Amino acid sequence: MGAGKFVGRAAQSLLGSRSSDSIEGSLSFALSCARQAILLRREWASGQDNRDILMKIHEYQAKDILAKYGVAVPRGEVANTVEEAVDVAKKLFAAGATGVVVKAQIHAGGRGKGGGVKVAKNLAEAEEYAKKILGMQLITHQTGPEGQKVNRLLIEETAAIDRELYLGMVLDRAAAKLVFMASKSGGMEIEEVAAKDPDAIFKEYIDPAVGFQPYQARKLAFALGLKPTQISQAVHFMTGLYNVCMDTDASLMEINPFITTKDDKLFALDCKINFDDNAMFRHKDLKELRDTHEEDPLEVEASKFALNYIRLDGNIACMVNGAGLAMATMDIIQYAGGSPANFLDVGGGANQEQIENAFRILLSDKNVKAVFINIFGGILRVDTLARGVVEAAKKMNVKVPVILRLEGTNVEQGREILKESGLNFLIGETMKDAAEIVVKAAKGLTSANA
Ligand code: GDP
Ligand code: MN
Repeated sequence: MGAGKFVGRAAQSLLGSRSSDSIEGSLSFALSCARQAILLRREWASGQDNRDILMKIHEYQAKDILAKYGVAVPRGEVANTVEEAVDVAKKLFAAGATGVVVKAQIHAGGRGKGGGVKVAKNLAEAEEYAKKILGMQLITHQTGPEGQKVNRLLIEETAAIDRELYLGMVLDRAAAKLVFMASKSGGMEIEEVAAKDPDAIFKEYIDPAVGFQPYQARKLAFALGLKPTQISQAVHFMTGLYNVCMDTDASLMEINPFITTKDDKLFALDCKINFDDNAMFRHKDLKELRDTHEEDPLEVEASKFALNYIRLDGNIACMVNGAGLAMATMDIIQYAGGSPANFLDVGGGANQEQIENAFRILLSDKNVKAVFINIFGGILRVDTLARGVVEAAKKMNVKVPVILRLEGTNVEQGREILKESGLNFLIGETMKDAAEIVVKAAKGLTSANA
C-alpha cells in the first residue's frame, strides 16, 4: 500500500464488499494490513475513498504502457513547457490531425469538468490552452479544495467520438479474483452510475487458473452494444488491458472514456492505472514513473527516513512504535473524543535520528495542536526515544503540548532524560490517561486560538 489522495475510487466503489485476508506469520503482510486499515480509516474520517491508494502514474505514462500491449490510444506526446506543447501540436496537425486536445497531467480524475481538458481546433488555440492550463492549480472533485498544480500536459490528436463507454478492472478481495467491468455510461462519474443504476455495470470475474477468456470479452462487447465490425477489435483491446494488469501487478485500471469513433475504431481516450506497491520490488521500470509532486509532501519526506507515516485530517499528532500500537493509539484518541492528525509507526528499531525526523515531520503539519508519543520500549529503548525527542524539541521551538506515555526497556532513564531537559512534557501514566490529557490539550489550544 502507498499513500496519496485520490483516483480509482470508482472501480473499487463498484464492488462494495471486502473480506479480510487471513494469512498470518509475515511481518510485512501484517504491516500492509495495518496500512490498509489506516487507509480505510482515513477514508472514513475524511469522507474520501482511499481504499486503493497505491502507486499511481499519469495518463501519458499509462497510455505508453497500453500502446506497448497493442491497445489503441490516440497519437500524442507529453509536454513540460508551452513551447514543447506547441511543437507537439504542430507535428500532429502536420500529420493530418483536425484538432488537438490539451490535457492536464495530474493524478486526480475529473480534470475535464475542472477545466483541465480542452479541445483546440488550430495551433493558436492549442498555444492559448497550453498557456492557460500549464501551471494552473487544477481543482477537481478528487483533488480537494486546494487543487493540484499542473506541471505537465499531454497533447493528443482529437478523436471523432461516436460513443463514450467505460472499461475497468480491479481486484475484488471478497471474490479473490480480478473483475473486468464495462458500462455504456462512459465519460461521466462512474460512481454515480454504480449508485443509481448498478445493473448498468456489466461484470466478468476472471478465474485466476485460466485467465481472461475471449468469450468473456465478447460477452462484455455485446453488452456494450458494440457493432459486429467492432467485436473482434474489442476482444483484442480488452485482452490487451488484461495483460497490462497482470504483467504490471496493477490493482486497478480504468479506461474512462473507452470510445468508439465514427469510422468504427476503438480507443482508450483516458487511462488510470494504480499499482500494488507491495509488488514494486519486481518492477524497477514502473517505480521510476513515480511522481512525488503528486504526493503529500510530508509523506514523501517521511518515506526518506523509512518512517511509516500517513497523514490524516485530525489535530493530534501521534508518534508510536509498532503498527499495532499505532492503530490502538488512533483508536484510543478517537475514543477520548479527539482526532488523529496522522498514523506514524517509527518502527521497532528506530534510531535517534529517525525519532528526530519523525518529530520534525509531525510538527510541520499545520493542523497539529498536540502531540501524543506512545512508546513501548523493546528494541527501541525508551532512553533512545527520549533523547531523540529532547534533541528535536530543542532544535524546533515546540509550541504545542507534548504528551508521553512510556513503558518498557529503560523507561526510568527515559523519564529522567525528559525531566532533566527542562522542557515541558506532560506524562500520562496509562494509555487511557495519556489519551484524555492529549485530547484536552488539543481542544484547549483550539479554543484559545479561536
Ligand atoms: P478526466 O475528466 O480527468 O476523466 O479526463 P478525460 O481524459 O476523461 O477527459 C474528459 C472528457 O474530455 C472526456 O470524457 C471527453 O468527453 C473529452 N475528451 C477527451 N479527449 C477528447 C478528444 O480527443 N476529443 C474530444 N472531442 N473530446 C475529448
Ligand atoms: Mn476520464
